[in-house]
Amino acid sequence: MMVNIMNRAIALSETLRTHVESHYPLLYLVTFEENKADSLIREFGVGRKILEWNMAGGIVDFASKHPLSSYCDLSSALETFSSMELDNHFLVIKDAHLALLDNPLSVARLKALANKLIHDDTTLATVFLVSNQVLVPPELEKFITLFELPLPNEQEIRAIIVDHAGLYDITVSDHDLSALTLAFRGLSEHEIRHLLNRGYQQDGNIDKDDLALVYSEKEQIVKKSGILDMIPRHESIDSIGGLEQLKAWLRQKAKVLADLPGAQAFGVDAPKGVMIVGMPGCGKSLAAKAAATLFELPLLRLDIGSLLGKYVGESEGNMRRALKLAEAVSPCVLWIDELEKAFVGIAGGNNGSEVAIRLFGHFLTWMQEKSGAVFVLATANDISALPPELLRKGRFDEIFYVDFPVPDERKAIFRIHLEKRNQRLTDIDYAQLAAKTDGFTGADIEAVVKETIEQAFVGDKAALTTERILCVIEATDPLKIVMKDKVQEYEAKFKNLHIKKAS
Ligand code: ATP
Repeated sequence: MMVNIMNRAIALSETLRTHVESHYPLLYLVTFEENKADSLIREFGVGRKILEWNMAGGIVDFASKHPLSSYCDLSSALETFSSMELDNHFLVIKDAHLALLDNPLSVARLKALANKLIHDDTTLATVFLVSNQVLVPPELEKFITLFELPLPNEQEIRAIIVDHAGLYDITVSDHDLSALTLAFRGLSEHEIRHLLNRGYQQDGNIDKDDLALVYSEKEQIVKKSGILDMIPRHESIDSIGGLEQLKAWLRQKAKVLADLPGAQAFGVDAPKGVMIVGMPGCGKSLAAKAAATLFELPLLRLDIGSLLGKYVGESEGNMRRALKLAEAVSPCVLWIDELEKAFVGIAGGNNGSEVAIRLFGHFLTWMQEKSGAVFVLATANDISALPPELLRKGRFDEIFYVDFPVPDERKAIFRIHLEKRNQRLTDIDYAQLAAKTDGFTGADIEAVVKETIEQAFVGDKAALTTERILCVIEATDPLKIVMKDKVQEYEAKFKNLHIKKAS
């Protein structure tokens, strides 16, 4: 294995060692790989007595995992630990987030234990909480120090593949090695080796034919996670009427993403992403779906509302998991829908804005550091709720403002929706339709088309005419009227911000 895996592991274990020696009572290790946490704890726990509690076995011997007594839950285990002579002990609590969730007695006992360890200078003992999620009850926040065990980076993944292929006496071609390395990003060493085994068992080789296996595994991971949705891609860039600037921009990025390593070698920066803001119903979500189709990448949707939780660290933990997951599935488009929700009206009362600030900080850092493999496409209606730092150039590659469609765009939108519904009409006066739909959104126009077709079907089944469509337009209240106040408020805000127009 490469030197730099060792370096990262050594750096982490040194930091942990310092914390142990400085009497930090509770160290929270976040990892999807329990065995890695175990080997770290074992590595510098030499000469110490190590006891473990886990959900399946109760109190067990750390090395053998054999139960040391009859099964007990976490709160009883903590009572046992507190009554023991703990000097020179490590106590390891597995599945920490599950065990502490809605379990006030365990939280209280862990807090009492942490207090005892802090104030008793004669006892050197540390409690390790190990979990794949961060969930810190507020009562424990000031006692806990978080450590995140890193997933393998690209160099490390390469080394794992080469190492694993070596076990089967196989050489992986350079081209396949690069493709597999990219595909394996975001997975743990254990998962990578497991997939390499499966790939080898299928055809006795490790090559790019195994990519399908990796992607289906990643799709499973997304489905199981419950925090991201994998959205099917049906919309093409040509199903967007108007928004020509935005479409041209996306087409350019598609060319970069199609050969990212080549583009980067040429000196092109890896695309970070785009924010699309503006009026409801004017094609922001449609653009997200069309972009993923254009880029030929999976589309993952992150619903900000579903990230927000009641425990300290829960919202950030969920955000962290979601972003990690997006990296695991990368290359992909990560569509963050209604981004403004992360920063306004956060449930949970007093600490709402604090949570918002932390979520925001985490998101910005991630945006800054992420590789080009996750293309972020954020959409928002209420731009005034977004922190100005986010709107500053450099965070996203570009910010586009989607306004109500102008006449030519309305013509295109009518045509798209009529054709989508098998109405290839030659004698429609699109200019007249456009003239009569000032203030209509794309969604309003789509609704008019749907309604006209349905009326025709239920009525005389005659071919659609301009007059028939005009009748439905006449009877429709467009969004600009229905949401007059809100629309005026948005218009005023957008005017002040001078954001690039998508049209
Ligand atoms: P919201 O902010 O309410 O989510 P949005 O801007 O994301 O709105 P979309 O969901 O993209 O709006 O639009 C709703 C539907 O209206 C789309 O699925 C599409 O059928 C139609 N539509 C909107 N704008 C356009 C457009 N420019 N071209 C073609 N169809 C459009």
